[in-house]
Amino acid sequence: MDQPSSLVACQQGHTVEYPAALDAVANAGTDLAFCLACDCQQVHMVVLFAGDTPRVVASGDLDLYARFEATDWPEQVYTGGPASFSYREMGTLDLALFMKE
Ligand SMILES: [Zn+2]
Repeated sequence: MDQPSSLVACQQGHTVEYPAALDAVANAGTDLAFCLACDCQQVHMVVLFAGDTPRVVASGDLDLYARFEATDWPEQVYTGGPASFSYREMGTLDLALFMKE
């Protein structure tokens, strides 16, 4: 089993994890986004840009998650890990639109 990738998601230093295989997908040229819950009850939206390090682009409550779910970005499910993991394919312009709302 591959080790998951992780990143520090909040100022409290909590880490969140996602399947390392998604790094490979991003590095192959597809920008990805997903939401993860943090130990401090926040929802973090994480973006993987091709050739870049993962970053948290937004943090919030369940409303952030609802907005993420409401995008028309194509949803994908990675099933190669211990649990299925859903994420969305994203264009950078799409992210700008999302952040403006
Ligand atoms: Zn936290």
